[in-house]
Amino acid sequence: MALQTALQDTFGRRFHYLRLSITEMCNFRCNYCLPNGNDCNTLKNDLSITEIDTLVKAFAAMGTSKIRITGGEPALRKDLTDIIELCKNTPSIKKVAMTTNGYLLKRDAKAYKRAGLDAINVSADSLDPRMFAAITGRQKLEDILSGVDHAAAAGIDTIKFNTVMLKQFNYKELGAFFDYIKHHRVTWRFIELMQTGDNHNFFKQNHVPGNALKDVLLEQGWQRIVRTKDAGPAQEFSHPDFMGNIGLIMPYSKDFCSSCNRLRISSQGKLHLCLFAEEGINIRPLLLAQDIEKTCDVIVNHLQSKTISHKLTNGFTGATRQLAMLGG
Ligand code: SAM
Ligand code: SF4
Repeated sequence: MALQTALQDTFGRRFHYLRLSITEMCNFRCNYCLPNGNDCNTLKNDLSITEIDTLVKAFAAMGTSKIRITGGEPALRKDLTDIIELCKNTPSIKKVAMTTNGYLLKRDAKAYKRAGLDAINVSADSLDPRMFAAITGRQKLEDILSGVDHAAAAGIDTIKFNTVMLKQFNYKELGAFFDYIKHHRVTWRFIELMQTGDNHNFFKQNHVPGNALKDVLLEQGWQRIVRTKDAGPAQEFSHPDFMGNIGLIMPYSKDFCSSCNRLRISSQGKLHLCLFAEEGINIRPLLLAQDIEKTCDVIVNHLQSKTISHKLTNGFTGATRQLAMLGG
């Protein structure tokens, strides 16, 4: 098999980017994700570091160059720095990123950097401490913003914020986000709320179409940044009066899936071709057996069944009850 170019689907999309969930567990209770925290069905039997090693070697052999570590909350794993290091030291993996709620950044940013972390996305759904607590269930905004400063001081060069837009909560606070972006050299990404198996009512009450914010940006003179063809589905905007940039993730927009460039592995060792696929396929036995070649074969074959797009606009959310299961 010509492994380096193996990860291509039947629609010509290439997948150089792996999103690796290392746990389903989370210590936050975001109202759009895990409003009641983890329930007792949450699986704790996460992939071991040896299984992750086989997985990462297989993906690297097939041309993957970027890995994002996610969860649940990845910082809950005590061996997180070992996992970062393992990914970074795998030949062909050029970039290791992580998506985190940021609660341990203040303490661990230096250790993450030392282990080889290149980039972080930190979720911050409000800049107002009370609203932040209302959305996430935790009084942690100050710690998280200070954690981001620690990450920058530790030399993590690429820092982005993620905010899920919620009509009845933070959408009224766009002005505060704009003020921050005006004075900070960051990318602030606004994510359109996605419907999942568990959040139907919440979704109905809180979904704001991404295009509504895009219209606001264009009216205010923000300009679309031209990105490379393989940069993924986010749209980015800049403005001469602002130090930071804005990213929009609009999963309900037309053609969102045409630039899909990522595959997902759950913390239980299932390969998911889409966040909203019917289900993932279990490759854990191959990881347990440390069989890199067979792992590659199974992934390449399964990729051929990836569909052209999700069916979210029809309300089809597949097997995903909430995004902590798979990492968003
Ligand atoms: N716990 C980490 C965090 O919150 O950054 C990583 C996992 S979390 C599932 C990854 C991203 O998915 C976060 O930015 C979160 O805000 C986003 N997310 C979770 N549920 C979502 C939903 N229903 N719609 C849109 N984004 C969602
Ligand atoms: Fe936890 Fe992240 Fe889900 Fe919030 S969005 S509950 S921090 S997994």
